[in-house]
Amino acid sequence: MVATGPAARLFSSTPLRRSEFENPFGPNSLAKVTEEEEMLRDAVRRFAEEVIQPRVESMDEAEKMDPEIIKGLFEQGLMGIETSEEHGGAAGSFTAAIIVIEELAKVDASVSVLCDVHNTLVDTVIRKYASKHLQDKYLPQLSESKLGSFCLSEPSSGSDAFAMKTSCRKSDDGKHWVLNGSKMWITNSAEAEFFIVFAQGDPSKGYKGISAFAVEKDMGVEIAKKEKKLGIRASSTCTVNFDEVKVPVENLIGEEGKGYKIAIEILNEGRVGIGAQMVGIAQGAFDKAVRYAYERKQFGKSVASFQGMQFQIAEAAVQIEAARNLVYNAARRKEEGRPFTKEAAMAKLYGSQIAESVSSLAIELCGGIGFTRESGIEKYYRDSKIGAIYEGTSNIQKQTIFKLVEGEMGLK
Ligand SMILES: Cc1cc2nc3c(=O)[nH]c(=O)nc-3n(C[C@H](O)[C@H](O)[C@H](O)COP(=O)(O)OP(=O)(O)OC[C@H]3O[C@@H](n4cnc5c(N)ncnc54)[C@H](O)[C@@H]3O)c2cc1C
Repeated sequence: MVATGPAARLFSSTPLRRSEFENPFGPNSLAKVTEEEEMLRDAVRRFAEEVIQPRVESMDEAEKMDPEIIKGLFEQGLMGIETSEEHGGAAGSFTAAIIVIEELAKVDASVSVLCDVHNTLVDTVIRKYASKHLQDKYLPQLSESKLGSFCLSEPSSGSDAFAMKTSCRKSDDGKHWVLNGSKMWITNSAEAEFFIVFAQGDPSKGYKGISAFAVEKDMGVEIAKKEKKLGIRASSTCTVNFDEVKVPVENLIGEEGKGYKIAIEILNEGRVGIGAQMVGIAQGAFDKAVRYAYERKQFGKSVASFQGMQFQIAEAAVQIEAARNLVYNAARRKEEGRPFTKEAAMAKLYGSQIAESVSSLAIELCGGIGFTRESGIEKYYRDSKIGAIYEGTSNIQKQTIFKLVEGEMGLK
């Protein structure tokens, strides 16, 4: 028997439905950006081409960041992108930060990660979780001149980050927290003057014993071994030691024992940043290689005129577009206050995969010259590899995606 009465509409554009799906950007493509964000993109592009590009090769060879670049990033207002104007920042959106990271990575992934860690991890932890006192004290410094590091990983705790051994205890007079231990593979640490440090206060509580601290270098932080790496060689990655480092009690970030929550939440944001870095790497390699393929002549023609080349270029273009949409989707969801953990993990996972495959293809599109250091193409391939490792390996992203998909399907 067929039911009578008006058929239920599968598609409805009632005001309720519209508002349910409304977002501040309107029903636009994911890559739609505001006028301000577009202007920022142009400004960063110019800065990257004029200031960073001439230094990329020498910094990679020297495995060292040019201090002029760090100074320039601060002068351009790119180190406090989401920080309020009151605290010396640019009061921009999260997507603005994502755009900056992507644009920088097109030219140099090392500069990009320096800016990414400082903005999406360090600045954000202080903005979101620290007391007003700490915000007033540190955000202006972090916007104007002091580079920050994020210290979570340790020799025996990487993917299992909360198995950390670095300890914190209150001093006898109750005025300080005393930190002891070693953090490993800490980005920016050679140049940083400020550190967000996670430490265990009570191992019997497991991850609920972990707290986060705002630590100044002058409090006694020791920068030890600097790693020699496959890629992002100009980005410093060092061991950071804490030997009875006394941190004022008020430098505890958020509540005691809630450091694990800060780390989990902040790395979700950070992963969108790494996704953006990976999209930038892929686009940078692609742009250089395709231009070269137009210039390079074989069999009396440009090698880009061969269909075999064109199909490979088309595949790569699709991959970059798909990864960029994943990144912008995660960023917009975060801005709209919607869940974005799964989307962030997808953006990072897929971004790192296509950064590696597109930069590998870029070498092949250029032939022999692509394999040489002077071409500047092989660096993208080396730089891409880190995307599958830091801020949670690819397996850890897959674990997160699976758990969330399983939950969405009601299978858990
Ligand atoms: C250049 C660089 C910069 C870094 N910067 C920072 C920084 O600024 N701050 C910071 O705190 N850390 C930083 N790190 C550390 C980074 O986050 C860790 O290296 C990363 O989380 C992986 O940890 P791990 O190296 O101990 O690998 P492991 O955890 O030992 O993993 C080894 C392998 O086992 C796999 N694996 C582990 N657990 C599981 C599981 N449950 N299921 C399936 N597979 C699993 C991993 O996917 C990986 O393939 C940096 C690392 C590098 C290389």
